[in-house]
Amino acid sequence: MPISRRSFLSTGLSALGLMGPYLKSVPASASAPKVIVIGAGISGLAAAEKLSIHGLRVTLLEGRERIGGRLWTDRSLGAPLDLGASWIHGIRGNPITKLAKRFSQPLYKWDYDNELTFDLLGFKARALNRFDELAAALLDVAYNNRANSSSVSVAEAIETVSRKHLGSQLTSKEIAFLTASLVELEYAAEAESLSLNGAFEGVGFDGADAVLPEGYDRIASNLAAGLDIRLGTKVDTINYSVRGISVQAGGVAFDADFAICTLPLGVLKTGTPAFDPPLPAEKRRAIELLGMGVLNKIFLAYPIEFCRTDILNFNRISKSSKEFAYWANLYPSTGQPVLCALNAGKFGKELEGLSEPDRRERAHKALQSMFGIDIPAPTASRSSAWQSDAFARGSYSYLPVGADTAERISLAAPLKGTIFFAGEATSLDNPSTVHGAYQSGLKAAEDLLSRTK
Ligand SMILES: Cc1cc2nc3c(=O)[nH]c(=O)nc-3n(C[C@H](O)[C@H](O)[C@H](O)COP(=O)(O)OP(=O)(O)OC[C@H]3O[C@@H](n4cnc5c(N)ncnc54)[C@H](O)[C@@H]3O)c2cc1C
Repeated sequence: MPISRRSFLSTGLSALGLMGPYLKSVPASASAPKVIVIGAGISGLAAAEKLSIHGLRVTLLEGRERIGGRLWTDRSLGAPLDLGASWIHGIRGNPITKLAKRFSQPLYKWDYDNELTFDLLGFKARALNRFDELAAALLDVAYNNRANSSSVSVAEAIETVSRKHLGSQLTSKEIAFLTASLVELEYAAEAESLSLNGAFEGVGFDGADAVLPEGYDRIASNLAAGLDIRLGTKVDTINYSVRGISVQAGGVAFDADFAICTLPLGVLKTGTPAFDPPLPAEKRRAIELLGMGVLNKIFLAYPIEFCRTDILNFNRISKSSKEFAYWANLYPSTGQPVLCALNAGKFGKELEGLSEPDRRERAHKALQSMFGIDIPAPTASRSSAWQSDAFARGSYSYLPVGADTAERISLAAPLKGTIFFAGEATSLDNPSTVHGAYQSGLKAAEDLLSRTK
């Protein structure tokens, strides 16, 4: 998930150490089991590293011409801009913090309370003092409805909460802003679609959140060092049986004893790659019921820093509560005059239909509404389109009304003792996150290793 307010290739592949071939340190014997890992995102890299360390012969097949998947850092505007994940959520005990240390990557602690609110509707920024109150009230409703919280949407729950407890204290516009800002940006889903259950999923880690000022892709590129990764290798068919695996990619067959599939939920929903035999009913049901949310980012680079250089978060309360409601200021962490807006759900998808100049214009206008029409024009912009991305088909998973965590268990279940599943959507404890995806890769590798003993 992107932001946690209670609680992100032009540099050149070779410069990042991303060019193959990769060779991991423990030499595999010619008789060691062969494993194909489908996808070189964080979960696939985690699994591949662990298996390689145990001496298995591992090959990663990656459809894109880059590794990292939803960890994607762009450097075309000067500063490292994370178009996918930006934040380590809860740095204490978090395996990504450990990886950052291991790879000597600096962290910048993100203080969500360091914020400034622009209230374009005339009512004062008092809504922001109510974050805790609304969250506590939500917890209350969740507790009372815990038996059927998968059948209640967050929008319904908020409606009940505001009527029962907060009606006299919060206006409907304030509630709309809080819903967009606290719920939809975090879960990448409309409050009408997200189940109350989904809003309370996972366990998480303690401590502050942090960003990686040198780019989140450094975690992926360092993990990838030494691994056998075939870029530009889009998997078309996955044949699995008790005897082993055969994967077809662009007319080439890759045979192995085992496979770990880390295809994003959004890709699995499209039905390609095809599985042979077809996936069992339970897994198909899980793929259908789980939701794939959309969260998109747009980064605007300016010639000078025209806003407060010491403020990290800018909120925008406007008539269109779901549009450009939250901005992250990258100046404090990178020293560059770059601002980033996050947009989720329907509006996040709608932006994908626009050209980059049109997206930039909309975003700049939103900033003008906050900082005045005299602010300088942006020198450049860079934005994501995760729904249209054929190798993601969305940003990250969520639990819609009618779905339960049992679906994540079904999604993760291995088949025939030879094919294992990983990726953020399979994580029970930390879905929708980088650390959850990483842990899921390690778990799939452990399960696979236990089959080789
Ligand atoms: C905009 C955005 C913001 C986010 N913010 C945060 C955040 O701040 N903090 C946080 O913890 N998490 C965040 N996340 C979530 C986090 O990025 C993901 O949970 C995590 O990176 C997923 O890793 P994964 O290995 O499961 O999947 P992926 O990274 O998607 O890896 C799957 C790989 O499979 C490849 N692939 C797909 N189809 C094929 C095919 N047919 N053949 C071969 N390869 C294929 C893909 O190219 C990809 O490399 C964010 C995500 C997005 C999109």
